[in-house]
Amino acid sequence: MDLKQYIAIVEDFPKEGISFKDITPLMDNGSAFKYAVDQIVEFAKDVGAEIIVGPEARGFIVGCPVAYALGIGFAPVRKPGKLPREVVSVEYDLEYGTNTLTMHKDAISPGQKALIIDDLLATGGTVDATIKLVEKLGGEVVGCAFIIELTELKGREKIRNYPVKTLIQY
Ligand code: 5GP
Repeated sequence: MDLKQYIAIVEDFPKEGISFKDITPLMDNGSAFKYAVDQIVEFAKDVGAEIIVGPEARGFIVGCPVAYALGIGFAPVRKPGKLPREVVSVEYDLEYGTNTLTMHKDAISPGQKALIIDDLLATGGTVDATIKLVEKLGGEVVGCAFIIELTELKGREKIRNYPVKTLIQY
């Protein structure tokens, strides 16, 4: 299935100069959404995932159905102040300023094999911070999967030590 036809490209969103890849038409279409999730489920099986880790908010949308299909857990990665119990945090650099991501301290058990899932790989900053969170908790990152990869931004280089699966490339 050609998934690209279900991605809407929105110029100058959320800021001028950004060409935003909108996955909501793909989510709107049951067979396209199922096809995309099924591809990632196969990758999750190949890498032996025992838990799915997804950054808010679109990592939840893509990651949760994968976890459900495999009958394994899902651990959310969130911005500071959103998770109610004790967390670990990782700060990472943005073009201007920094961002922080958090996970519950007990979200991953030592040695647990985690697959990180998000909708889109751009610079790799988000997934790199998520890898650090999982590893802080003693988990093993067995792969990273995305629906979309923006190849020019070279996020893949940042995570070159991990198996990576992307379904659509721009
Ligand atoms: P990175 O940290 O790799 O630079 O950016 C990836 C993160 O930003 C992902 O969590 C993704 O949801 C979000 N993101 C950045 N650009 C886009 C875009 O064009 N479309 C969508 N859907 N998400 C984006």
